[in-house]
Amino acid sequence: MGEVRPIVYVGDPVLHAPCEPVKEFDDELRALVDDMFASMYAAEGVGLAANQIGVPLRVFVYDCPDEDGVRHKGVVVNPVLELPEVGERRLDPGAEGCLSVPGQYAPLPRADRAKVHGFDADGRPVTVEGTGMLARCLQHETDHLDGHLYIDRLPAKRRKRVLAAYEESRKAG
Ligand SMILES: [Zn+2]
Repeated sequence: MGEVRPIVYVGDPVLHAPCEPVKEFDDELRALVDDMFASMYAAEGVGLAANQIGVPLRVFVYDCPDEDGVRHKGVVVNPVLELPEVGERRLDPGAEGCLSVPGQYAPLPRADRAKVHGFDADGRPVTVEGTGMLARCLQHETDHLDGHLYIDRLPAKRRKRVLAAYEESRKAG
């Protein structure tokens, strides 16, 4: 059972810099993963990157449905994202949101299938392949670990609108 840790919001430097690769697959890492699951469920998210709870390591967790509504749950350490070749890539035009920009959503086309290679918390190799929302989640979480938020991929005007709405909602409390 992990401990729920506070989510870090847009503007915090830990979200805007690349995370460090994990070198030790030890109890500390497994405790971090437990805390990440607890924090993701508490925030009602479908994915969470370690830097979203302030830890700059390349780890994400997910519990997310694919395009057929089948739930997939797991952890990927040191993920490497693989997308279909540009010529074979189909874009899903759906909307995206992020626990670190709470309450805001914006349309963001993403590849409708994606694969991530990495390791589980014990250092065993894993490959996760996803369609639909899971494909979006794998891309979104890997972006986090590279120091990018989904709003960084939006056209400038829309990004400004999303940030302004977020600031407004924070002031409103
Ligand atoms: Zn996010």
